[in-house]
Amino acid sequence: MKTFEHSEMIQGLPKQFFAKLVNKVAAAKTKHDDIINLGQGNPDQPTAPHIIKALQEAAENPLYSKYSPFRGYSFLKEAVATYYKREYGVEVDPEKEVAVLMGAKAGLVEVSQCLLNQGDVALVPDPGYPDYWSGIALAGANMSFMPLKAEHDFLPDFSQLHKNDLQKSKLMFLNYPNNPTGATATEALFQDAIEIGNKHDICIVHDFAYGAIGFDGKKPLSMLEVPGAKDVGVEMITMSKTYNMAGWRVGFAVGNPSVIEAINLIQDHLHCSLYGGIQEAAAKALLGPQDCVDELVQRYESRRNTFISALQNIGWNVKAPQGSFFAWLPVPEGYTSETFADLLLEKAQVAVAPGIGFGDHGEGYVRVGLLSDEDVLLEAAKRIEKLDLFSTD
Ligand code: PLP
Repeated sequence: MKTFEHSEMIQGLPKQFFAKLVNKVAAAKTKHDDIINLGQGNPDQPTAPHIIKALQEAAENPLYSKYSPFRGYSFLKEAVATYYKREYGVEVDPEKEVAVLMGAKAGLVEVSQCLLNQGDVALVPDPGYPDYWSGIALAGANMSFMPLKAEHDFLPDFSQLHKNDLQKSKLMFLNYPNNPTGATATEALFQDAIEIGNKHDICIVHDFAYGAIGFDGKKPLSMLEVPGAKDVGVEMITMSKTYNMAGWRVGFAVGNPSVIEAINLIQDHLHCSLYGGIQEAAAKALLGPQDCVDELVQRYESRRNTFISALQNIGWNVKAPQGSFFAWLPVPEGYTSETFADLLLEKAQVAVAPGIGFGDHGEGYVRVGLLSDEDVLLEAAKRIEKLDLFSTD
């Protein structure tokens, strides 16, 4: 059997840090059958029945056995435009300002390939979602990190950006509600980003994957609500989190027509859109009753309240996330994010994601997914309490 050498492009891809975590959890499972895995970001609830039914019915339509239009069915792009108008009061041209994606992940990787040449720079949040790095690596471009610090509410401090990086940058990634920190954006953040985009010809890509998940009655802000956003940016949204459709692979890029055209062009070469039945069901999800979304947000909020209070009661000084389904927890003194995650896995059989996997500024934190029932989260807190790491005086 020959072993073929991988291309330089493949060899240049960033290492998948979280593959290590998956292996550690699998190894721990061989020793303990009661591991509580809070390390992942996979929604635990099923897709709502009316959306599944829409797919079942659509599967009978012979039209959908054929190739879908390369750029997706117009009815789906129109549904996205209706969604933006209904949810954010934003007008979107369905043909020129919406690209149908096989999940937001695909769009987030593709946008770098569309806009970056070798040696260009992309501004990337640190900590941040690692898939931004992948597209930048595939484009042969470089990253300049924007630290997200607790003292700045996990928003980038644009005043700290180097002039040189700004001159070389063509792309900036933002992500609110934020993975991994659970922070939400302010209007001022988007206004400043748009100003930078205009001044330095930088495309602002707002990853709005957790856009539907905001707590305490606060609806997260879409960047497109801010005047001028479409002039310099696009927003990526996904059905994965809002409608528990992670396995269905449906997302959208919405905004600046030149960026949407570039994404459509690259996709013309890579694939032939999604199965038509999935597109029909996705459109019905966007246009249909939204109680399932409201219930989901309430569920996450209730889990957040239960888990954060339980941790605070055992003396762990943690803050409640404002959005997303993650909690970002500071590690106690004397540990790194990785040694602390190892300790929790080995001694409490609780898996969490070490912050360092999201970038250097993720050090000092672990990320927990609020993707288990409250009794499981309470059990995790109880097991952590037994390690006697925190003082309740
Ligand atoms: N962006 C962020 C911040 C995410 O956490 C995720 C998924 O975990 C995605 C994008 C990708 O979503 P999708 O399932 O649409 O590819």
